[in-house]
Amino acid sequence: MSPGDEPLTLLDFASKPVGDLVGVGPKKLQALASAEIATLHDLLLHYPLRYIDRTRQVAINELVPGDEAMVLGEVVGVDSRRTRNGKSMVTVSLSDGSGKLSLSFFNQPWRAKQMYEGMQAVVFGKVDLYRGSRQMSSPIVDLVGDKTGRIVPVYPQSAKAGLHTWDVAEWVAQVLRRSSVRGFAEAVPQSILDRWNLVSRDAALRMIHQPESMGDVDMARRRLVFDELLRIQCKLVRKKRVLEAEQSGVAHNLDGTLFAEFLGRLGFPLTKAQERVISEIHSDLGADSPMHRLLQGDVGSGKTVVAVAALLTAVEGGHQGALMAPTEVLAEQHYRGISALLSGLTVRSDLTLLGERELRVAFLAGRVGAAERRRIRTDLANGEIDIAIGTHALIQEGVDFNSLGVIVIDEQHRFGVEQRAALREKSAGDTTPDVLVMTATPIPRTAAMTVYGDLDVSVLDEMPPGRIPIVTTWARTDLEEIAVWSAIRGSIADGNQAYVVCPLIGESEILEVRSAEETFERLDNDELAGLRLALLHGRMSSADKDAIMSSFRDGEIDVLVATTVIEVGVDVSNATAMVIVDAGRFGIAQLHQLRGRVGRGSVASQCYLLGEGETPDSEQRLEALVRTTDGFELAEVDLDLRGEGTIMGERQKGRNDLRLASLRRDREWVEHARQVAFELVDTSLDLSQVPLLAAEIEFYLAEEDAEFLLKD
Ligand code: ADP
Ligand code: MG
Repeated sequence: MSPGDEPLTLLDFASKPVGDLVGVGPKKLQALASAEIATLHDLLLHYPLRYIDRTRQVAINELVPGDEAMVLGEVVGVDSRRTRNGKSMVTVSLSDGSGKLSLSFFNQPWRAKQMYEGMQAVVFGKVDLYRGSRQMSSPIVDLVGDKTGRIVPVYPQSAKAGLHTWDVAEWVAQVLRRSSVRGFAEAVPQSILDRWNLVSRDAALRMIHQPESMGDVDMARRRLVFDELLRIQCKLVRKKRVLEAEQSGVAHNLDGTLFAEFLGRLGFPLTKAQERVISEIHSDLGADSPMHRLLQGDVGSGKTVVAVAALLTAVEGGHQGALMAPTEVLAEQHYRGISALLSGLTVRSDLTLLGERELRVAFLAGRVGAAERRRIRTDLANGEIDIAIGTHALIQEGVDFNSLGVIVIDEQHRFGVEQRAALREKSAGDTTPDVLVMTATPIPRTAAMTVYGDLDVSVLDEMPPGRIPIVTTWARTDLEEIAVWSAIRGSIADGNQAYVVCPLIGESEILEVRSAEETFERLDNDELAGLRLALLHGRMSSADKDAIMSSFRDGEIDVLVATTVIEVGVDVSNATAMVIVDAGRFGIAQLHQLRGRVGRGSVASQCYLLGEGETPDSEQRLEALVRTTDGFELAEVDLDLRGEGTIMGERQKGRNDLRLASLRRDREWVEHARQVAFELVDTSLDLSQVPLLAAEIEFYLAEEDAEFLLKD
């Protein structure tokens, strides 16, 4: 450790092995290693799982049958036997001087080894009367050694490795005692701590391990959560500011008339949200550092118009725009839609007599023939094409732009960071194009701040007027399902069309396709016999898929039975009903995306969810879908149900620095931390005014860790 009497930093403890502690021999050392505790630093950050509040403890002779209660006592007897039907049953007798309590454990034979006479245990459970005496069956058991504090911390323990909570508590106490004179160094300026009433680092570390009350635990937790989130936000905000400083972009000209002309032809006024987001984008585009912006907007919120606004700004100044979509179907749909919106607009040109020519939009995807592709490449390179719309074919070798100014990437979760970077490199010269990433998968605001922490975020939180809300019905029983199919027949008789979506089964596309085929056969022969049905799935050739999609679009097919290939973006406004088979198998976001395929026309649309919710979670998901069509509200529900796993993969969760903080529970602290991170980074990019914080960020968030945080 650093010599002298300066306060100790957490990093100081990282160089002290746990083997130095009194009472840690080779065996305990191994046990600690199995819990990934090698240094005193690891031990200090090995926080209790929960606490036993002894002030809420009840004497055995005061236990009331039917209540839940906590009892501390000594084990006075252990009996292990088998029941008549061969199940194991362990009965433990617990005494606290006031009386005896019997504990029974079914099918937990290891309890007989875990609990032995003379040991102290805290048990928590529901009190029953059994043959006149008090008992608990399968209570929660905490073995607490002889700890008698008011609040007893319970650490994660492993009986197998021989690591007990009282051992950990004792070692932590040693570390806290030995560091009490010098104390723990503060990494965050006092003024910031004062702003949110946060206790010092020193107090927080002591209180999380040795609280006097549950109030202490809350205060300690708040502070330590803030530290974790602040480190991540500083890392992300710094990354963002470094990018902005290093890259120079195009300062686009915002004075032109092209966008106004476009608005004039649109036939409807922009929503307030569209106006706000477009002005956010325009102010990015007018600046000379490149834009990195995420646009979140629910299905149907009108993202296309916003994308066009950005692309036109590039074209206005003589640059080019590119829009990349994840699939050919989507890219082509954008191409048709945007070409129609822009038809008749003109741009300046020195090559024509009148000094202007038609604005030119081109489509580039795998299926575009070689000759056509060559022509498009040539015209992109010489600037004759203003806007290119396509798939990842846009980022392939040999595609060069004359002057790429703005890139829009649709449905970004389908692309990786690398692809974003590859498209960015297509710019001419040493300027970096502005990037707008659009996603129709809303994620909660605070989660976005973490997952997309290097991007600015705009939100389209308002739907265009006049949309008729989709009515969602959950058909749980066979009888209800029959009613669904008859409603579909009725709707088709009225001239509408419908989708039937079959779920992904496991990870296997083959199984998925088979189940879709079966559903198709069944409906064709039975429930929907006589209607014009077609099947669409991911193993068909893209020519076949296109043929089916276009006959569906042309109204030659009544019902499209499909796998999740229709999840994103497909737009047929005459399709007003969607049936989702085995809906319990889908996640909230996916169901919401699917449902967004209907409700696009002037007739009220229906979404039917079929099947039982298989788990309590899936029931809650389906209930949420029935209750609301607001994607952001659904994203919050999803975060509540599934936790951070929804937005960060398991691997990411395991490796990052979020020990206590939860993006779900600690939403407000994410915002506070982000605000502080901007203050600190904008004071000095290298955080030189908060050197300890800077060192901790280096220590906890190595470069590769930041990469995964930014992974999308
Ligand atoms: P998204 O891509 O966000 O799902 P779109 O851009 O495809 O949504 O827009 C959905 C529909 O709403 C389109 O038919 C579009 O023409 C229409 N629309 C967009 N903005 C408005 C508006 N301000 N007023 C009325 N209709 C709008
Ligand atoms: Mg769209």
